[in-house]
Formats: sequence, structure tokens, C-alpha cells
Amino acid sequence: MDATIHKQDATLRQSANLRDYFAVYDSFSWDVARAELDGLPGGGLNIAHEAVDRHVGHGHGGQVALRWLGKDGSRQDITYAELAAASNRFANVLRSLGLGRGDAVFGLMGRRPELYLGALGILKNGSVFSPLFSAFGPEPLKARMTIGDARALLTTDTLYNRKVAAWRGELPRLEQVLLVRTTDKPLPEGCIDLAAAMAEAPDDFTVADTQPEDRALLHFTSGTTGKPKGAIHVHGAVVAHNITGRYALDLHPGDVYWCTADPGWVTGTSYGIIAPLTNRTTMIIAEAEFDVERWYGILQNEKVTVWYSAPTAIRMLMRAGKEAAQRFDLSGLRFLASVGEPLNPEAVVWSQETFGRPFHDNWWQTETGGIMIANYAAEDVKPGSMGRPLPGIVAGIVERDPQGGVQEITTPMAMGELALRPGWPSMMRGYLNEEERYKKCFADGWYLSGDLAMRDSDGYFWFVGRADDVIKSAGHLIGPFEVESALMEHPAVSEVGVIGIPDETAGEVVKAFVGLKPGYAPDEALRKELLGHARKRLGPAVAPRDIAFRTNLPKTRSGKIMRRLLKARELGLPEGDLSTLESDELR
Ligand code: ATP
Ligand code: MG
Repeated sequence: MDATIHKQDATLRQSANLRDYFAVYDSFSWDVARAELDGLPGGGLNIAHEAVDRHVGHGHGGQVALRWLGKDGSRQDITYAELAAASNRFANVLRSLGLGRGDAVFGLMGRRPELYLGALGILKNGSVFSPLFSAFGPEPLKARMTIGDARALLTTDTLYNRKVAAWRGELPRLEQVLLVRTTDKPLPEGCIDLAAAMAEAPDDFTVADTQPEDRALLHFTSGTTGKPKGAIHVHGAVVAHNITGRYALDLHPGDVYWCTADPGWVTGTSYGIIAPLTNRTTMIIAEAEFDVERWYGILQNEKVTVWYSAPTAIRMLMRAGKEAAQRFDLSGLRFLASVGEPLNPEAVVWSQETFGRPFHDNWWQTETGGIMIANYAAEDVKPGSMGRPLPGIVAGIVERDPQGGVQEITTPMAMGELALRPGWPSMMRGYLNEEERYKKCFADGWYLSGDLAMRDSDGYFWFVGRADDVIKSAGHLIGPFEVESALMEHPAVSEVGVIGIPDETAGEVVKAFVGLKPGYAPDEALRKELLGHARKRLGPAVAPRDIAFRTNLPKTRSGKIMRRLLKARELGLPEGDLSTLESDELR
């Protein structure tokens, strides 16, 4: 059966930014994309200038840039002009404290306006912004700030007292701590009251004369496969943020856009701060955590037009059922996209049925800095596929050879490593302090992603699994995604993680860990039914040999299933770096 979702809606096709994929792909040039931005006098480029000041300069200062929805029900609208002035004041504070070009300034905060204006102020000052997830414990914070050579930290008094004060003295280079006051407690020693400092700072600031290759961002990877790596990005990346936001997320000026990712991760910065602003949308920032009713309420009440989310959240919405969505008027939604993990075909079909629009899966990594492969507004969606490479991006499927080189495989649907031709502006410029590891990512003119995928004859890419997660069973290579997606089709299943476990005859056999939807009991009858369902869908060679029920699967704080941890626990092996683990049932 052809499950393709055809985009027949003529008006949608006409209004899409990317109407003719092949024509744009074939004629695309990064220089032309760069020329759409202002730049700075003398050839410079600064992310924050392009995100905010450019629009003010072009007469759009009165448009709302950020609409903040506080946990306590408060709301605050900040226009482009106000954001320009506030980020200028922040930059003036940094400059007055002696912080300058290349200095790493970390941000540790929930989704509050100060984090956003702070990030922009840091970039205006030519300093390097490094976001930290606010739910990290003291150890992961200290580790990241130590390797990142933190010179300053922007946080709240509550987070500082709870997570940083005890070890701050061990980081002598961490000179300045700027605090947002959220309590009436006295200001902790050695810290600066941000509101007071900003009140005295001037509104005017001359943006640092940053060059495209100057460092701008330091992002730590999610830690799904091991110890997180620090990926370095430059100001030139804004060219990619801007154009990929326009093509892959279909952002139009004036869109009401909601990215549900936290700015503690790369998605929450590239597409939760930079791309939506460079494309002059009004961004929704929701401080509170996930909640089905609240999320649908935000989509309805704020009339969100473009929504960027992630598979784990989508699976939680599916678990709540279509009825939960039908109580809200979501007719304002024009474009839905997903990233971070493979998006099961079942979720795409569910979305089409529930919202009248599919979620558009797209693929990228912390390392790539921006979206590389996507499903587009005006193009047909094949559920389960990540889509096609962005204009400006050359992607291929390659195979490593024993000499350390790679060969491209062009046969349709042949499995290999997903690789990209370097040269797009948001590519990382290195892993912090890990030169060797960085070098190992390249061979024969390709950047090797570490993910396995296939490409079909229409040029759509299909995710198979991370190279580390692929299961080798009786001579077959089995991608966990295929097995997980088959189990997701069963009405009882709400989430699945699949791993390989050692087996004397087959080498490895497949084991699935399954979370159930409300109303289903984890009993033997259901286990047998699921095993039977999988065998019917996948055949005995690929179907799981065993299924175990779990109320919660171990996930990163950004919501990714940690298969390595399922495996370590199953086999009694060391658990490795757990700094990004969300608390699960075993912790
Ligand atoms: P670490 O590198 O520390 O193990 P991580 O790879 O999860 O963590 P990120 O850079 O946040 O860190 O995630 C990128 C990875 O997420 C991709 O390499 C891929 O494995 C997965 N991913 C992202 N988007 C998709 C997608 N649309 N489909 C399938 N997998 C995806
Ligand atoms: Mg990775």
C-alpha cells in the first residue's frame, strides 16, 4: 500500500517557501543565501544582528518577537525593538565587566525572557554562548563549564544556590555570575544582580565586528550514545539557520511559531532562538513543561501557525488520544515538524488524521548545526522517511572500507552510513578539546554522521538506526527503528526501545522494551499478542525474540530513548555517562 501523504492542497503549495524543490536545489548557492542578510560593514557577520537589529533597521521594530507564557499564567510580549534594546543593555553589561570576544558565557535557566535576550546580548558582544539544560545536576554543569572554559554564567539565584555555589570556587576562570532574582533572599556573594546592572546600562551598543568564522556557540551533544561532546559553531552559521528555517520549517514573516525544545539543546537555540527571529516570526516561549491540555491550549489560544516538536512529545499526545486534540480549535496550524529521534510512520499518519496535517520529520545533529534532511510543506510526505536534503546540502549513503576510506553506495534502499559533503555554514568547526575525534568524522571528502540510513529511488532518506544501535542477527543487520515502528502500530503500544542481546547461535537477537497506553495491562497474553504482531509484520528473522514491559523507558532530558542504557542494564554492563539521563523508574 502506498502510504504517501500527497499534498493536494493547492493554496498550501502556493504559499510554501520551497515550491519547486528540484529547481531550488539545483540553483542554490550559499553566497546568494548569505547576500539576503545584512552583514556588518567590512564583511563581518553577527547572528544577533541578523536575528534582531536587522528587522528593526528595516522598519519592523513594532512586531512582537517573543511572546512569553510564564508558568504562573503571566504573559509578556517583547517586540523586536524592545529585544534589540534589551540585548544591547545585556551586551553593555558584559562589556563593562571586561568580557569580550571569544569568552565563553554559559546560560543556565528555564525558558525565561532573560535567557533569550541574554543569548542575543552574548552574541552581540562577540562572546560565545553555551546553553546548559536547567535540569542538569551540579556535576554535569561543572563538567561542561570546566571543559568549556566558562568565563561567565547567566542563571537565576535559585539555580545558582542549588547547583553552582558549592563548587564555583573550583573554577577560578569563572569570574562573573549574573543572576536573575527569583527569590527575596540576599544576593549571593560574588554575584551580580542582572536587573540592577541592566537598568544602568545604555540601550545603544555597537555590535562586535564578528567575522563569519568567529566562534559563536558551544553546544553539547545529547549524550545518547556516550559522553557528550562539545561542538563549536561560528557566526556564519546564521546563513544556514535562516535558510533552513525558511525551507524546512516554512517560516514566513509574521508566523506564530512554537518550538517546544528547550534552549539547553541545539534545537532550542538554532530553531528556538535564531532561525525564528531571522525569519521575523513571533515566537512563543512556554515556560512550563509538557502537559497535553496545556500544549493544545497554547496551540489554540496563541493561534500557532508553525509548530516544531519531537517524537517523544508526539507519542505522548498520541497516548492521550485523538479526542484530547479534538476539544481544541487547532485550525490555525499550517505546518508541523519533528526532530531529534526517528518519527514512527504511525505518528505521521496519526497527525494527518488528528490535525489534518502530517508531522514533517527532519534530520540533523548538534554537529551539523542546522537541518540537513527534511520533508517539505509543498512536497509529498512518505511516513517513516526523513525526507530529502536541504538545498545546499549533498547527502549520501557510504560504506567504510578497511583502509579507512569510504565508498558511496548509490543502489536504492541499500543500507549504509549517512554522510554529508562538508561546506555548509552551520557545520561544527570542531569538538572542543577532542581534535582526534573530530578528524575521525571525515573521510574521502565526506562528513560521517554515525547514523545508518537508506535512500530510495526518489531521493528520500530512511533512518535505520545509530551505527551503535544496529543489531546483527544471523547475518542480518536489523535497524531498531523498523522493529519499533512495527510495534508502535499496535493499539496498546505507546513507546518502544529495541536492542540486540547476545545469542549463541544468531550472534544477537532482538529484544523490545515496551510502554503501554492507559487501559492496557502488561500481562502474558498481551506479550504473546505483541510478539505475534511483530512476527507477522516483520518476519521471524527480524521480529523480537523477547518483549519486556516498562512503565518508563530511560531517556535523555531532551526526550531521546537511551538504547545503550537499556542494553547496559539488560546485560549488567557499566552504565556509562548518565549526565543527560532524565530520571527514570530506576533512579
Ligand atoms: P550523542 O552524540 O551525545 O550520543 P545525540 O546524537 O543524541 O547524542 P544530538 O546531536 O542531539 O545528540 O542528536 C542527533 C542524533 O539524533 C542524530 O545523529 C540521530 O541519531 C538522531 N536524530 C535526530 N533527528 C532524527 C530524525 N529525524 N530521525 C532519526 N534520528 C534522528
Ligand atoms: Mg550524536
